[in-house]
Amino acid sequence: MLSNKTPSTVRSIINAVQRYKVLNTLTHDCFETALETEQQLLSQKKNNSALNGRPILIKDNFCLRDTLTTCASKMLANFRAPYTSTIVQRLIDHGCIIVGKTNMDEFAMGIASWSSFGPVANPWSLTKTMATNEEDNKTVLHIAGGSSGGSAAAVAANFVSIALGSDTGGSIRNPAARCGCYGFKPSYGLLSRYGMITLVNSFDSPGFFARNIDDLIYATNAVAGPDNEDATLIPKPFKPLKTSTELSKEKRKIIIGLPDDYDIGTLSTEYRSCWHDLVHQLTETGEFEFRRVQLPHTSYSNAAYTILSACEIASNMARYDGIKYGHHTKNIDKNKDTYEDIVTKTRDESLGERVRGRILAGNYYLLQENYEKYFVQSQRVRRGVVNDHKKVFEEDKIDCLLAPVVCDDPITLAEYQKSDHIFSEDDLFTVGANLAGLPALSFPVRLSSKGFPIGLQLVGPFMQDQALLSIAQRICSTYEFPFLDLSIQN
Ligand code: GLN
Repeated sequence: MLSNKTPSTVRSIINAVQRYKVLNTLTHDCFETALETEQQLLSQKKNNSALNGRPILIKDNFCLRDTLTTCASKMLANFRAPYTSTIVQRLIDHGCIIVGKTNMDEFAMGIASWSSFGPVANPWSLTKTMATNEEDNKTVLHIAGGSSGGSAAAVAANFVSIALGSDTGGSIRNPAARCGCYGFKPSYGLLSRYGMITLVNSFDSPGFFARNIDDLIYATNAVAGPDNEDATLIPKPFKPLKTSTELSKEKRKIIIGLPDDYDIGTLSTEYRSCWHDLVHQLTETGEFEFRRVQLPHTSYSNAAYTILSACEIASNMARYDGIKYGHHTKNIDKNKDTYEDIVTKTRDESLGERVRGRILAGNYYLLQENYEKYFVQSQRVRRGVVNDHKKVFEEDKIDCLLAPVVCDDPITLAEYQKSDHIFSEDDLFTVGANLAGLPALSFPVRLSSKGFPIGLQLVGPFMQDQALLSIAQRICSTYEFPFLDLSIQN
């Protein structure tokens, strides 16, 4: 179970993905082209990128030319992207081999990666029991987190060493913590969003999953930096992040903030202990100092995120009207149906409940009589969240924050199906970094008593991605996490 060597050939990855189909990590595969690309790369002169020949998976909300790009929705079930996203193109240019598109919550809304393709299962469920048939599976398999659950599960299971995801309100950090791998959301504006199907323009950030921090760095270095196609990017040249071997060995004491406001009642005793134990362990090394800090807008941040994201979603989803592209209802009465009728039927047939709910909520918040009460008020909270973080980083002189990512172990797929899963309390831990555009990294710490990974996150000052990753390297080198490996055939 404890190997960290990821299968390096496309064939071995195909075998592993097929053997563990029950995890449902992919919406569709690119196996044939991946095998061909592998052959081509073998016959070419090697480029010196650390990613050359590296098989990777990409979340199904990134466009790849002529390939299905569905956002795991029936709405885009037949949509072949006419162009390739900047990030994916840069990965290809570095010699990455794209093996498939990963399953996710529909249009990246959610925390369970349950879509029209079915649910992604948490790979750690398989260490406890072997799934048998679809209905029984739901009681023995657990959620993988979301929305980038397919990418997280595939990396955690060791099918691939790196996978691409997106984080709007926690969608990289949440599944990384649930599945037991690293998940990095860089500062907003560092990675191009061109060709990543938008969820919430002002929060969305592409980012990576990996089994070590150096791989996150290789992948981020390969894709970061200015792009004329994305006007929201930081217009400065990108200074490559340093890997563990390039970092200076000088060991300045690190000051880490522990936000009291994240210590909420729903955080389980076990997950709280994991957080506190790590603090004790690190304090004992003498290299870290911890200070309690206040982020007073935290308790409003989930509400503000919910409102602001719904508003942008309502506007972004207007394009899915069944006319321009995507699903188009066949159930049209030519003599009677108006444009609105066609939109309604198209969306009813092809969008899930959560997506429709958010479009409805967003339009409600944006009504003239509600605008001030919801949208403007939430923007004020957003400013408050930004200022809270500025204060702890600048006035309290904190290098980064250490906080939980989720409250407790994952629930089973059956429990999830029964629950009211439209909103998630766990988002409280993650949305702050998106509201403020800050870099954040979730890392696996240990296993819970039931044998599920417990992850924690670090959140750093804006554009201090290098410092954040260096601190993470130092923290994670103080212990060993028992990574899962389903790629080896028993
Ligand atoms: N759980 C959040 C939501 O549903 C996460 C979204 C995301 O980061 N893509 O909005």
